[in-house]
Amino acid sequence: MGIEGVNNRIADIQSRMIALQTQQATKAAKATNTSSATGATTASGASFATALADAMGTQSTGASAKSYTLNGKGIPTELAAYGNGKIPANALGKVGNTNHKLWAPAAESLNQMIADAKAQGVTIGITDSYRSYDEQVDVARRKGLYSQGGLAAKPGTSEHGWGMATDLDLNSKAQAWMRANGEKYGFSENVPREPWHWEYKPKTT
Ligand SMILES: [Zn+2]
Repeated sequence: MGIEGVNNRIADIQSRMIALQTQQATKAAKATNTSSATGATTASGASFATALADAMGTQSTGASAKSYTLNGKGIPTELAAYGNGKIPANALGKVGNTNHKLWAPAAESLNQMIADAKAQGVTIGITDSYRSYDEQVDVARRKGLYSQGGLAAKPGTSEHGWGMATDLDLNSKAQAWMRANGEKYGFSENVPREPWHWEYKPKTT
């Protein structure tokens, strides 16, 4: 995590602290019994610690923070075992309420990223995601192969076939936001001349 990431994290935790303090203050004000000021402080302190632990622990408890072993081509071994374009439904996760699917940890991270961007007034749309082998054949037919100057990978080799890549619908503000923040969620812009194409990289062991 870069210094910007650390700063964002601190800002996030601080905002949670303020929210919690406000909540505790409201509760204390509403209390009808005559609890002592000391008691209120202790309760507040305990909840405060819990909230802080929650805030700090978010990234290590989510599935997206699990570590994976990659094969020589950078593909998680559990996905490589299925084969490109042959990922079973139970290994895929849904992106928001769309029909788009990605490898489950990538979908989870993307959903979090879209929500965080939205909270900052940035809209991230999605135009493509997991592609089965048959869908890759179809895309290659429509868009042409890279090797022939087109925009599609050879069927069976696309990052989309691993459920590890997504094509995003980004306006200029969202494109800038992605370039500044995508890495925090494991997404990087890795294909020249395709600023919409973002590849997910899981944490590795
Ligand atoms: Zn793509």
